[in-house]
Amino acid sequence: MKPVIGITCDYEAEGMQPYSFTYRDYSDAIIAAHGIPVLLPVMKDTNTAGLLLEKIDGLLLTGGDDVPPQRYGEEPHKKTICIHPDRDIFDHALICVALRMKKPVLAICYGAQLVNVVLGGSLIQDIQSEGMSPLAHKDLRNRRYTHTVTVEKNSILYKIIGKEHVETNSVHHQAIRRLGKGLKGTARTPDGIIEAVELQDYPFLVGVQWHPERMADFPCHAALFRALVKASVSR
Ligand code: MN
Repeated sequence: MKPVIGITCDYEAEGMQPYSFTYRDYSDAIIAAHGIPVLLPVMKDTNTAGLLLEKIDGLLLTGGDDVPPQRYGEEPHKKTICIHPDRDIFDHALICVALRMKKPVLAICYGAQLVNVVLGGSLIQDIQSEGMSPLAHKDLRNRRYTHTVTVEKNSILYKIIGKEHVETNSVHHQAIRRLGKGLKGTARTPDGIIEAVELQDYPFLVGVQWHPERMADFPCHAALFRALVKASVSR
């Protein structure tokens, strides 16, 4: 049986009818990795998070706007654009329950930042304003190659990707500052920005700061989705 992978949605409530949505690249990447993608709509009732998780084998946390800084005890920076409050509450519930249930998780961009915050970590609210990096991390052209990351050899990520230097895209303006409990930084750019994390003593939780779904025609990026699907088999 192919495992069912739940994919979190973004949420828009500006118009007459609020809607959940996400980009097709995510589900295409799961299909290519031989999983069954299912979109998880944003809902008010957080109890639904647990019911959904019982039906899925693995969880893909997608990208989005910023984690509300109140979650890690800071006031918002002027460059911070918070995720819709309904998505924030639902995603938060989903991650908490998923961790309790030991579900395999692949977290991308905002998803990785949120996992870090859920585990008690904090974020750099705007890399550029803080003068943290000479590298451009928010590449608005969404190029397929923005910078290279160096992967720690002693990591799940290295086992998945199979190489030490990986060319990635980069469309984030925030990054992990203090690592959450149990998280290990497993890839960095030359400027020291954490580009990947994994949760230690856990079946499978890998977070990346880049968007592998947009480069899934490269074997090293597609491998992340295969690893999630593999970890989700027969659970
Ligand atoms: Mn980057």
